[in-house]
Amino acid sequence: ILANVVLSFYLVAFWVSHMMAKKAMGPVQESFLRQREFVADASHELRTPLSVLHTSLEVLELEEEEKLTDYSRQVIDDMKDEVKRMTNLVGDLLTLARMDSGKADVILTQLDIGPFAEQIVRSIQPVAAQKGIQVNAQLLPSLQVVGDAEKLKQLFYILLENAIKYTPENGKITIVLETRDKRWQLRVKDSGIGIQPEDKQKIFERFFRVEKHRSRQMGGTGLGLSIARWIVSAHKGEILVKSKYGKGSEFIVTIPLSLKEATTG
Ligand code: ADP
Repeated sequence: ILANVVLSFYLVAFWVSHMMAKKAMGPVQESFLRQREFVADASHELRTPLSVLHTSLEVLELEEEEKLTDYSRQVIDDMKDEVKRMTNLVGDLLTLARMDSGKADVILTQLDIGPFAEQIVRSIQPVAAQKGIQVNAQLLPSLQVVGDAEKLKQLFYILLENAIKYTPENGKITIVLETRDKRWQLRVKDSGIGIQPEDKQKIFERFFRVEKHRSRQMGGTGLGLSIARWIVSAHKGEILVKSKYGKGSEFIVTIPLSLKEATTG
């Protein structure tokens, strides 16, 4: 029964993703807006059953522990992984739907991005350590910028998690935070699998993954970089990638230090 439930959620999510991926072609803007609203509502509504499903699986695992065979335990663990993946997907879809419909509030405040970056880097260290990846951070200890703290945090996590995901064991990641003229710059460099020249632009598109199967296994949704691009443009900045296929990649984000510079270019 639970497998059926997961499958049905999968189908709904697939359908929602499909609608998101479709380009708005129709001449009637109103119907386009309605579609966006629908995606936002559907993603939102899917969150509750997913969290119920996750809790039910945890309870099942705990309460029936004695009776479960190794096989059943494995099935429950696989289901938990899938529910987690779907929860991430639904979360990303909701974020994108809000961005599309202009409902994603960008709350700009003055913030010191130095300690903020350091805390994020510290929090990903254990994940990198699990793969034997060395993290080298060169961060300005203090840097006053104007930005949306939540969204910038999301941006940092997307780039850092990708660097870890796409770098094989015992690799190296370098994170640099510095100022350049009236801008600040974040550079995330990895010694990972790299990106082919023809894919460099495509990776910022929704649901694009270089190796679909492999990326899926790694828990990706294929939406991270499109969200990253949106966050950067909401801060009037730029994001680009340099890469040598098979050797590694570097994602470079450049954002104006203050709103004034942003509006005057
Ligand atoms: P995903 O959830 O699949 O990681 P993203 O939108 O974050 O989705 O990235 C899109 C694709 O870009 C990935 O599936 C991967 O193929 C490629 N990619 C992203 N970051 C890196 C990186 N640091 N090194 C190599 N490839 C990357």
